[in-house]
Amino acid sequence: MKRAPEEIIRVKVIDPPAVTIDRFRRVNAILDEIHYNYTRSNKETRFVNLCTVIGRCGICGQPLYSTANGRIHADGSKGVGFYACKSHHPRSKGRLTKCGSAWVKRETLDELMIAFCQQKLTDPEFLTTLIQCSLAKSSEIIVPFPDRTRQNAIDALRRREKKNLEMAEADLITVAEARARQVAIHLEIEKVQASMECNVHRPGASLNVVDLVTKVVRGALAFRRQSDRLQMKLTIETMFSEVFFRLREQSIVAFKFSAELLGKLGSGLPTDIINLDTPFSLMRKIPEGEKHCHGCRKTLFLTDFNKSQSRCRDCQKQGRELRKARPLTL
Ligand SMILES: [Zn+2]
Ligand SMILES: [Zn+2]
Repeated sequence: MKRAPEEIIRVKVIDPPAVTIDRFRRVNAILDEIHYNYTRSNKETRFVNLCTVIGRCGICGQPLYSTANGRIHADGSKGVGFYACKSHHPRSKGRLTKCGSAWVKRETLDELMIAFCQQKLTDPEFLTTLIQCSLAKSSEIIVPFPDRTRQNAIDALRRREKKNLEMAEADLITVAEARARQVAIHLEIEKVQASMECNVHRPGASLNVVDLVTKVVRGALAFRRQSDRLQMKLTIETMFSEVFFRLREQSIVAFKFSAELLGKLGSGLPTDIINLDTPFSLMRKIPEGEKHCHGCRKTLFLTDFNKSQSRCRDCQKQGRELRKARPLTL
């Protein structure tokens, strides 16, 4: 393409270039990735956190922060990363009151997010019910006064009913006549009442909902095929603007579709937070008489624990031996 002289921007090129083009590209790729990954990563693998940016605390609504364990192991590797509600993050100390959530291992929450996308978002029936229920609920909230005109119609019918009885009492009409009128009035009232309920409970399952469900399922199926974590994270972000986690229970309780996803589909879609009827969790319910060990993370019998200890006997014993092997030096 031929350019006018004033259109040409002259750049002084250092020769030889300070950075090779390959290196420049590599650095840029890394910088792009850091944009989505605030945590310092392990030596070998650059770990993309799936639950930052969209992650919210299901108790207080603060964003989820990811943090690498400060401890460095003997082999030089860093400890596992954790997610925490912003209110629990060291940087919020003194600024935010800690909510009732807990720290959760990075892998645990990422696995939960992946399972949610793969298992729940690929299920059109689940999504349709969820979206319709959520629309019904929000329409109940949005209409605080039940339809004024219908209420006025009922009031008028009640007045007519009263008048009818008064007329019967004053012998202006026969009892049979009064009864016939009474029945007619009651039928009218029932009809109006039925139309009011209909208005509250049926906000219209529009074509938009079908479009939305199709879009989400398509995204979730694409997600299922992806193995690159950055790609997975981007897919999650095109679907959701917020996902609410209960960290202590390790469950997903609610989410909000992204504006990008809803934008092209038109109005009448859930722009608010959608609550799940049952929180989505991968944790197995611990049977009675068993307990989860905080050390080896196995579910064991109560008899494997000393009373009210969070670690099993074996883990406690290991801890004692380690301490013995490395006595405290002053
Ligand atoms: Zn919180
Ligand atoms: Zn244990």
